[in-house]
Amino acid sequence: MTDIKGTAVITGASSGIGAVYADRLAARGYDLVLVARSADKLEQVADRIRARTGRQVDILAADLGNAVDLASVEDFLKTTPDVTLLVNNAGLGGALPLVESDIEQMTAMIALNVTALTRLTYAAVPEFIARGTGTIVNIASIVAINPETLNGVYGGSKAFVLAFSQNLKHELEGTGVHVQVVLPGATATDFWAIAGKPVELLPSAIVMSGEDLVDASLVGLDRGEFVTIPSLQDGRLYDAYETARQAMAGKLSGSVPATRYRAAS
Ligand code: NAP
Repeated sequence: MTDIKGTAVITGASSGIGAVYADRLAARGYDLVLVARSADKLEQVADRIRARTGRQVDILAADLGNAVDLASVEDFLKTTPDVTLLVNNAGLGGALPLVESDIEQMTAMIALNVTALTRLTYAAVPEFIARGTGTIVNIASIVAINPETLNGVYGGSKAFVLAFSQNLKHELEGTGVHVQVVLPGATATDFWAIAGKPVELLPSAIVMSGEDLVDASLVGLDRGEFVTIPSLQDGRLYDAYETARQAMAGKLSGSVPATRYRAAS
């Protein structure tokens, strides 16, 4: 019997990591809805996948930084019953220091990396809960836990994606809805050129291919992993970091200031 996967909606699927997700998820038997601004590039990705896999691949050309376009994708998620997987991948980066960055570009980055991801998640999750199944994959970045690298608004936006996903996972426990957050390291895509630093300028030893990044992330997804960091060789380092974070839970709020904050008499 064929395993019915349903439809995966992938944002930022016209290039880079999103296009590889499209390729891999179609090969796994998903029908696809591909979202990005460039209709022509989306059509090229869709044609290639249709020809290779025979899957149903539709495109939704939308600027997720534009409230009207974003609302149309939200409506699609709310009203399309066979969506089983949402990959919130569309994102913009920045390599310039804060003081050299244009505030309008920083605001646009927040609109895409934070607001669009949040609104699309809100659109998809109630349906998933009602059906008792569904998966959200949020693409963050290693800068979520290392914001001293690259641009601070970019790091802050990806820290939001991680924290939002942590809360989402916590709130959705027992609903049948799975959440994964992926923290890619440097990946060979157009992202770097758009951010103002071509990927060729990075040491090749720290740059992963989009294909390896997505294949590893899907291994993490198959294992039910929550945080997936494909380029972190020693996974125990993240486990120790998470254990230290969890050790503070329940101890962070109190009516009395800690003794180290008593004014010297
Ligand atoms: P990419 O090749 O530049 O892809 C970005 C995708 O987002 C494109 O499909 C782009 O398509 C789409 N997009 C950009 N602005 C959009 C908008 N306003 N509305 C709708 N779609 C929009 O970069 P990538 O590396 O694959 O990035 C994918 C994700 O990975 C991002 O969230 C990024 O932050 C994250 N990431 C990347 C790296 C890396 O080193 N590459 C590392 C860590 C995390 P259109 O231009 O056609 O709209």
